[in-house]
Amino acid sequence: MAETTGRVVLVTGANRGIGRAIAERFVAQGDRVATIYRSGDLPDGVFGVHGDMTSTEQVDEAFSRIEAELGPVEVLVANAGITKDQLLMRMSDDEFESVLDVNLGGTFRCVRRASKGMIKARFGRIVMISSVIGLYGGPGQANYAASKAGLVGLARSITREIGARGITANVVAPGFIETAMTAALPEDTQKKYKASIPAARFAQPEEVAAAVAFLASNESGYISGAVVPVDGGLGMGH
Ligand code: NDP
Repeated sequence: MAETTGRVVLVTGANRGIGRAIAERFVAQGDRVATIYRSGDLPDGVFGVHGDMTSTEQVDEAFSRIEAELGPVEVLVANAGITKDQLLMRMSDDEFESVLDVNLGGTFRCVRRASKGMIKARFGRIVMISSVIGLYGGPGQANYAASKAGLVGLARSITREIGARGITANVVAPGFIETAMTAALPEDTQKKYKASIPAARFAQPEEVAAAVAFLASNESGYISGAVVPVDGGLGMGH
């Protein structure tokens, strides 16, 4: 278990799914946890500010409110993301651009804003939630895969630009995680997917949270620009 730190941790989209499990993990560790979220309710102990990842103004304003309440953000977990799957020939500009805008653009907006305080503090942990699809590809997922692969270049550029200031930037690439989305898949489809995963099962959101917690810890200070798969071996380390 990563050590308890009491640090200020911002997890985007902590109202449900993987983001919620990540936020709960940091709360349980004794960190001071905030989220920028769009809808729904939050786990106990999480300070929430409404904001949309596609708006620079809303992201910047939410950061300012979080900093006023809890102090500078020391750990950023960029989790909020969407899919709009469509076959390539039918994919509209909007389907492509809107997925890039939330998944890659939203992460960029958060990282840019968070970096100010991190550079000043000469400390920071940035963790971006990508996907096995980002490096493996997926039919009907050109937009999503491009957005998630883009996070790798983003993390590596941040590492090169501000890595000397005690700041790390890493990517976590989950495979199939048991969320509402995967539960809704027909049993046959689930079986087919599980047959292709060496671990022969889907993961729990808490297993993603564990990897994130490690990358956010003091112990991981020499790991940066890495892609950490949490996929039961599906991508074979990409
Ligand atoms: P969910 O769909 O359950 O949750 C997505 C979260 O992102 C929600 O909190 C949602 O808010 C938020 N969000 C979406 N768009 C915006 C926006 N424009 N502004 C602010 N918040 C937004 O997804 P998961 O928990 O399953 O996935 C979380 C992350 O993990 C995503 O980045 C996803 O791509 C990635 N991932 C998921 C996998 C899986 O198997 N589930 C596998 C690999 C990667 P709201 O509730 O308001 O819609």
